Amino acid sequence: MKKVFFAALITLLPLIYFGFSLNETPAPQKKYVLVVHGGAGAIARDISKEEKKLILDGITEALNAGKAVLEKGGSALDAVETVIRLLEDNPNFNSGRGAVLSDEGLAELDASIMSGIDLSCGAVGNVKRVKNPISLARGVMEKSKHVLLVSDGAEKFAKEIGAELVDNDYFITEKMRQIYLNRKKEIDESKKGTVGAVALDLNGNLAAGTSTGGMMFKKTGRVGDTPIIGAGNYANNKTAGISCTGWGEKFIKNLIAYNVSALMEYKGYSLQKAVDETFTNSLSKNDGGLIAIDKDGNYSFYYNTQSMTRGLVTSEGKFE
Ligand code: ASP
Repeated sequence: MKKVFFAALITLLPLIYFGFSLNETPAPQKKYVLVVHGGAGAIARDISKEEKKLILDGITEALNAGKAVLEKGGSALDAVETVIRLLEDNPNFNSGRGAVLSDEGLAELDASIMSGIDLSCGAVGNVKRVKNPISLARGVMEKSKHVLLVSDGAEKFAKEIGAELVDNDYFITEKMRQIYLNRKKEIDESKKGTVGAVALDLNGNLAAGTSTGGMMFKKTGRVGDTPIIGAGNYANNKTAGISCTGWGEKFIKNLIAYNVSALMEYKGYSLQKAVDETFTNSLSKNDGGLIAIDKDGNYSFYYNTQSMTRGLVTSEGKFE
């Protein structure tokens, strides 16, 4: 009996060994990727050189800050929050300070953030006194049982968790005040400068965040796609991280960010194919754009507007 057992073991050993080694998948190459946007339609044809430089400097500063987080092994979530906080503080973008104004002349801010690890997410809508809405969105995600808090309730929660509060005036730049006072309802002017970031970190985790003042002269109380998970923002480690910008109502009706992820998950599409199909089927010219990274680090910048401010940094040395 013993002999039979040993004979069988000797015959099977190579099979067991090779079987295991064939099943071993090579460890994925560790890399990070970060993409950032500063809004679709942001660079108008008549923009001055100085203004263009301010916008590009803002994106460069944000990319450098996000890169510093990711190259140290920091999380995609931290990179996204760091990048967006900087852009919210920068008056040259439509988020935080520098946001567009509602029909009542107020800055009313929306933001959301999502982790691809477990679909945890947080969002805030219509906040008027929170200095960095993206950090409050992260607070909702990590310190509450909810996904979306709006208006006064969101600000009450901000106080509870010690988020920095400011007067609404802090957000209103002279430029926005003048546009508001002149009631210069230019379409291009009205949809510019929302910010977003998507990151893949060295551990292979994705995160996406988006922050905006919405659309100029929007009705007070209007909430756009930015804090609607699946519309303006989405992240899933199985598929991709996506941050959108553009005409919010259309992005909500067509759940643009989730649509990209769903095409990848259920139809096996590549990121680019999913983005192309989503835009072709659901959006019309001048509706907006998005930035995205898939789980393997492929990225996509897509817009059907005149322009979209954007940037990229990768562990492979790209900085654009
Ligand atoms: N999507 C934003 C909103 O509708 C605006 C933008 O991205 O420019 O609120």
